[in-house]
Amino acid sequence: MGSNSRPHAVFIPYPAQGHVTPLLQLAKVLHARGFFITYVNSEYNRRRLLRSRGADALAGLDDFRFEAIPDGLPPSDNDDVTQSIPALCESLSRNAAAPFGDLLARLNSAPGRPPVTCVVLDNFMSFAQRVANGMGILALVFCTMSACGFMGYLHFKELMDRGYVPLKDESYLTNGYLDTVLDWVPGMPGIRLRDIPSFIRTTDPDEFMVHFDSREAQNTHHAQGIIINTFDALEQDVVDALRRIFPRVYTIGPLVTFVKNLAAHPDAAAIGGNLWKEDANCLRWLDTQRLGSVVYVNFGSITVMTPVQLAEFAWGLASCGRPFLWVIRPDLVTGEKAVLPEEFFAETRERGLFLSWCPQEEVLSHPSTGLFLTHSGWNSTLESICAGVPMICWPFFAEQMTNCRYACTKWDIGLEIDNNVTREEVARLIKEAMDGEKGKDMNAKAAMWKENAVAATEEGGTSSVNIDRLVGFMLEGSV
Ligand code: UDP
Repeated sequence: MGSNSRPHAVFIPYPAQGHVTPLLQLAKVLHARGFFITYVNSEYNRRRLLRSRGADALAGLDDFRFEAIPDGLPPSDNDDVTQSIPALCESLSRNAAAPFGDLLARLNSAPGRPPVTCVVLDNFMSFAQRVANGMGILALVFCTMSACGFMGYLHFKELMDRGYVPLKDESYLTNGYLDTVLDWVPGMPGIRLRDIPSFIRTTDPDEFMVHFDSREAQNTHHAQGIIINTFDALEQDVVDALRRIFPRVYTIGPLVTFVKNLAAHPDAAAIGGNLWKEDANCLRWLDTQRLGSVVYVNFGSITVMTPVQLAEFAWGLASCGRPFLWVIRPDLVTGEKAVLPEEFFAETRERGLFLSWCPQEEVLSHPSTGLFLTHSGWNSTLESICAGVPMICWPFFAEQMTNCRYACTKWDIGLEIDNNVTREEVARLIKEAMDGEKGKDMNAKAAMWKENAVAATEEGGTSSVNIDRLVGFMLEGSV
């Protein structure tokens, strides 16, 4: 195929780790299918990638290029941290359309690049869809969240219309109101208000994130197609319900598995998108541990906790008696550096390993890893499912609540920890998950879901077929 006749997909993720990674994964899969790729970072993240991975990280390939646009936020003192979510959402929606439009225009006339065939935009970047469609370019929305999480956002509007949101007053957060069952959300029987993305837990009728997320979700009705990083068997009822709402839903996950199978394209497979520098020494440490014995603790890229919560997790891990690998981001604790007492390190020196960022997929698929204490971010949940590792879930915010509910009650691979975490509960749940009857059941279910995930990505599997359909549509589709 001559370079000018190749299909050209432009990817624009919301600039946070849990979005950058899956869009990059799909970009690699499409690259392997013959697409020319342009991947658009924010300038802030471009600087972070250069720092964490070096210039090579963004060198790309002749037909896999990186570009950057400004996020519109003022420069910060420390530009190596996760940015404020509301500030970033607001700034991008206000400021990013013009530079993105300029970029598309430039790409369309750049020598050596085929004209843009399609834009794959993150579900929080609807401005990109308006820009693309305005230029007559096909735009597909990529949901980096679970289908059940997406269904929740899609119903923010109805929750407001029906008077559930905003909450009447603060007492509604604790008086049992959040346990109200919403029996009208399609494909999600039994779902409670507390399982809906957490932004609705507000008494403010003008809460920015409720309105922003609601608008972004409603905008998907105007997209030419919706791509979701999940697989049908995992969320069948919700996916079926989404297919009744939207004409084109492409469930193409877990992308992490497809990318692993790209060994034939080592150059593209090697392109990395981690915003923090990975410490791979932990893999050697895991090599020295017994099969399935290690508790892996990681709360992702955004979660923050109080010093008290940090201490409760720490002493719970100390008393559970198991080896553990704990990733503590420098900005994990609100308002201060994550500091734990010397006695804790003295007590766990023999069996605890601490680092600030790790190659998570490899840690999860290491045979020594037996349990994942997680914040239930969607990528982490999928990676755990792919590795067949059960979870203890401490959802922090957004649709992590929904993911936790599904992991614990539908997939039976998780145990939930109360937000007011105590050391006793941490130790008890770890014991239950690793030694108890419940643990045996969860391990069996985790093995089953892992097999299902593999089946979805094999030739003829649902996600594999949907990637073929997606590619077909991208090649032929028009606005
Ligand atoms: N991750 C990683 N190393 C770490 C922590 C996280 O590689 O030490 C990756 C993880 O594998 C996942 C992503 O960062 O792909 C986090 O995304 P997720 O949706 O789980 O949570 P978020 O960070 O968006 O809350």
